[in-house]
Amino acid sequence: MDKKYIANFNASLPRLGYGCMRLPVNDSKIDFDAAKKLIHYAYEHGLNYFDTAYNYHGEESETFLGKVLPDFKRESYFLTSKLPVWKVKEEADAERLFNEQLKKCNTEYFDFYLLHSLSKKSIETVEKFNLYDFIVKKKAEGKIKNIGFSFHDSNEVLQKFAAAHKWDFAQLQINYWDWEENDAKSLYDTLEKLNIPCFVMEPVRGGFLASFAPNAMKHFTDYNKEASIASWALRWVASLPNVAIILSGMSNMEQLKDNIKTFTDLKPINGKEQKIIDNVIKDLRKIKPVPCTGCRYCMDCQYGVDIPGVFEIYNDYKKSENKIIAAKQYFTFMDEKEQGSNCQKCGECMTKCPQHISIPDELEKIHAEMLEIRPVTVQ
Ligand code: SF4
Ligand code: SF4
Repeated sequence: MDKKYIANFNASLPRLGYGCMRLPVNDSKIDFDAAKKLIHYAYEHGLNYFDTAYNYHGEESETFLGKVLPDFKRESYFLTSKLPVWKVKEEADAERLFNEQLKKCNTEYFDFYLLHSLSKKSIETVEKFNLYDFIVKKKAEGKIKNIGFSFHDSNEVLQKFAAAHKWDFAQLQINYWDWEENDAKSLYDTLEKLNIPCFVMEPVRGGFLASFAPNAMKHFTDYNKEASIASWALRWVASLPNVAIILSGMSNMEQLKDNIKTFTDLKPINGKEQKIIDNVIKDLRKIKPVPCTGCRYCMDCQYGVDIPGVFEIYNDYKKSENKIIAAKQYFTFMDEKEQGSNCQKCGECMTKCPQHISIPDELEKIHAEMLEIRPVTVQ
């Protein structure tokens, strides 16, 4: 596993970090033995950065790591968690949540600690309850080594917030699709200008960039049939100079081994490969995905429609052309009330969507398309 020296921390971090939000599950609970095996394998192969959060895996991810990581010497790995800002209703909540997290993680300190999933709205909570001062205080107490935040909003909001305080790092959703489609480039540039190391989440966009329709994948496989599709996305992100670490939520040994391979003797994307990626992006644009980032600002829908869930299934379907998986995900794994047909067209979600998506219209269109593919696939 390659490492990168980050001057701001005076430390070398592995290029790949283990995002513990997609661990293997059994009956919706973390499959302890399978997940432990992955963590051990990762650690033994130099992947010693573990990223968790209060809410991952129904609030069980931290507890899981608290049971597994003590197998290793504390100073031999990096542990990251995040303050669930949305759970802070008064100033004292921050201390209570933080202490709970330390206890669940079975640790005296976090190497990295973030204000989780900030947006214009949640930044109001940060300011109202002095959450920046709170994490600075924990850093002074030695309970946090480095402070940061993860972010999902516009560059305008980021510029103002990032410059208002002193940060050790920040975490952004960066990948070759979001780079231009969702203006991730501006966010990245802002951190670079402010000399804030960028930690990357969703480098493969939750799997969106891990497999495509055969014609799109052909661009990659014609050039190198050995390399996985996901490895292109990971190498692309790793080629950005201000990227300190790249998080990937690996759910099985195959993904873990492939990612470790990608980050061992890592090859940056060269000019020829960038042109190939540009062609893949062109193909992806043709499928016209709904430009949903999964930010969930539109949620909760008062009628129970899982708006980002429907859009994700649809986008995956358009990309993969796999009717069987799409119909199964939509009709079998979603409750009826979560499906697009349950939209009552109240319009409330549209007032909150930063992408200005015409949500009720999209839901109606998608439901009709899902009905068309249903008879072939779902019993
Ligand atoms: S428009 Fe439809 S999806 Fe949006 S909040 Fe109303 S019912 Fe829910
Ligand atoms: S529909 Fe809009 S608000 Fe809802 S998750 Fe997608 S981008 Fe965010």
